[in-house]
Amino acid sequence: MKIAKDDLRSLKGVGPSVEDKLNNLDIFIQTDLLFHLPSRYEDRTSIKKIGALEADIEAQVEGEILLSSMVFRGRRMLMVQISDGTGIMTLRFFTFNKYQKDALKKGLTIRCFGKTRKATSGIEMIHPNYEILDPSKKNHLPNTLTPVYPTTQGLAQGKLRSLISQALNNRLDNIQDLLPKKITSELGLGSLKQALKETHQPKKESLDLETLSPAKKRLVTEELIANQIGMRQIKRASKNQSAIALNKTAIKQQLISNLPFELTESQKKVEGEICSDLSLAQPMMRLLQGDVGSGKTVVAAMAMSIAFDSGFQSVLMAPTELLAEQHKQNLDQWFEPLGIKTGLLKSKLKAPEKRALTERIASGDCQIIIGTHALFQESIEYKNLSLVVVDEQHRFGVEQRFSLINKAKNNGIVPHQLIMTATPIPRTLAMTAYGDLDNSIISELPSGRGEISTLCTSEDKRKEVVEKAQREIEKGRQVYWVCPLIEESEDHNRESAEATFKKLSHDLPNHRIGLVHGKLSADKKNKAMSDFKEHKLDLLVATTVIEVGVDVPNASMMVIENTERLGLSQLHQLRGRIGRGEHKSFCIMLYKNPLGDTAKDRLEVIRSSRDGFYISEKDLELRGPGEILGIRQKGVVGLKIADISRDAYLIPKINKVCDQFENDFPEESEKLVKRWIGNQINYRNV
Ligand code: ADP
Ligand code: MG
Repeated sequence: MKIAKDDLRSLKGVGPSVEDKLNNLDIFIQTDLLFHLPSRYEDRTSIKKIGALEADIEAQVEGEILLSSMVFRGRRMLMVQISDGTGIMTLRFFTFNKYQKDALKKGLTIRCFGKTRKATSGIEMIHPNYEILDPSKKNHLPNTLTPVYPTTQGLAQGKLRSLISQALNNRLDNIQDLLPKKITSELGLGSLKQALKETHQPKKESLDLETLSPAKKRLVTEELIANQIGMRQIKRASKNQSAIALNKTAIKQQLISNLPFELTESQKKVEGEICSDLSLAQPMMRLLQGDVGSGKTVVAAMAMSIAFDSGFQSVLMAPTELLAEQHKQNLDQWFEPLGIKTGLLKSKLKAPEKRALTERIASGDCQIIIGTHALFQESIEYKNLSLVVVDEQHRFGVEQRFSLINKAKNNGIVPHQLIMTATPIPRTLAMTAYGDLDNSIISELPSGRGEISTLCTSEDKRKEVVEKAQREIEKGRQVYWVCPLIEESEDHNRESAEATFKKLSHDLPNHRIGLVHGKLSADKKNKAMSDFKEHKLDLLVATTVIEVGVDVPNASMMVIENTERLGLSQLHQLRGRIGRGEHKSFCIMLYKNPLGDTAKDRLEVIRSSRDGFYISEKDLELRGPGEILGIRQKGVVGLKIADISRDAYLIPKINKVCDQFENDFPEESEKLVKRWIGNQINYRNV
């Protein structure tokens, strides 16, 4: 039997550039493609009649092109009308190339898949996927669901799909089942091969993603086992590794006495815990949890000042450049009077600026370096890095922690790590999510914060809400209007934010309104955010890009749309953007009627509480089966397919199995860790 090679280049359509993109997704061999799992599915197994389409569903239709033309409605777009004899539907494209425009000719038949929406002219689709059908051939429909994979810029979904399907053909038969029979039968799991096949090419019945199918249970269990064992490895390894003992605190004392506020008791307590970790010659591995606005940054600043005092460098890693910039501003306020120099590593630096900064970092002239993950991706050489602070990462799981240790390690010395998050994880799940980390919690907000009243109301009250916003603006306050990310299509989210922006600009003609969403360039995003911060804007329409970190104390009102579709923790995070100054604040959560009972209970939780831990516990409790949230538990967990809240009930059993597995099958357990979280370890040579 000929066994196909496992390298990526032997796949059809993979050259150096595609290989690069795959590497960015942590895919290095074909087998890795098998473990690149879909985040959702599309049902393209049937064709719907246009005449029978409802709004706001995903559907596939076929029709003849009646008309295709460029129109200008504020901006250029390509408008295509199709008919299947039962009705007419409009397709709109805001981005398209000449080739696409010319190809969509009148008289051709196309098949398209997308989300329907209702417009004044009838049902339409924005940016549907489509193919032009060849009438001389039979155009088969797939008999399995179409997977949608997480991808990266420049790697099209269709391309990735074809590569994974090739890899399944080549490799699935050789995939090694690493879990011993004893364990799979104890946990009631089917074969890995079957599980992978069903996950990549599921039958239509599997569309219900919230319930745990046998295939999914198999993969979830593997991932949770790998994660547990990975954490144990990190914990063991960190005990044997050396770090620099940092114990000079004079500058920290100065920093504290210069602060315009008193530290809260909670801040003092966690700062004490961090201080004592830093004083040891063993790397700190600590998670700092604290609600939004609880003042984590100043705690990080104190830790960095200790490193500085001892003559060593620190880095602060933020999830976005915007937050990195904000950190730079805040830290400079505190550090400049103490003579501590910071540097901001931005992607947009001009070559000479960048060279100057990297030289300062290498020489040690720059002692505190702020940036995004580029801090470790690029060829930055640190003189003597002793402390890494990671702020609010959306995905910072075991894999990332491994990788950070590897990248930051220098002459056998590992930096201390402080990972900060405002996403409180229910205590019951804490061990699973980050059993390898020590845990510090800031449990109170600074006093003197404005009160926030939260009101949940149906969308029909929109007019009153706009009037309320107007009154706040007239009092000199500012307003956030959030159109949260409700699905993976960024185009669709942009559409909804842009539509809201237009409506509000029309309703509030005398006020300055801005817009920020994920599709804007970094420059434009920054500009909108900093204009809002400097009060050059009164109201900011935003997607969830403002979820973390942004600090505008004058903002006293937030409106959140589609509240019923968001996780409670996420709502809590969003709301934490207001109530940061002394003003009384208002959070208005709009929902679409009718609301189910669970949805009502959930909104009641968020309305009545501002305690992030309580909210996260309730979120977990109220996730009944069938309640589709669409949002994974975010934060420091970073799992691919397991969802610690959905899958919590598996965990006690898994923990038990882990001991046995690690002891009796050391080789297999090692391989399992590599398979699920280990590309960092595999290929970058720990
Ligand atoms: P988060 O924990 O959400 O990151 P930040 O560190 O951004 O919160 O702090 C929010 C704001 O509160 C900042 O303006 C910060 O300077 C301020 N702050 C921090 N600690 C205190 C305190 N003890 N008393 C008053 N204000 C504080
Ligand atoms: Mg913060």
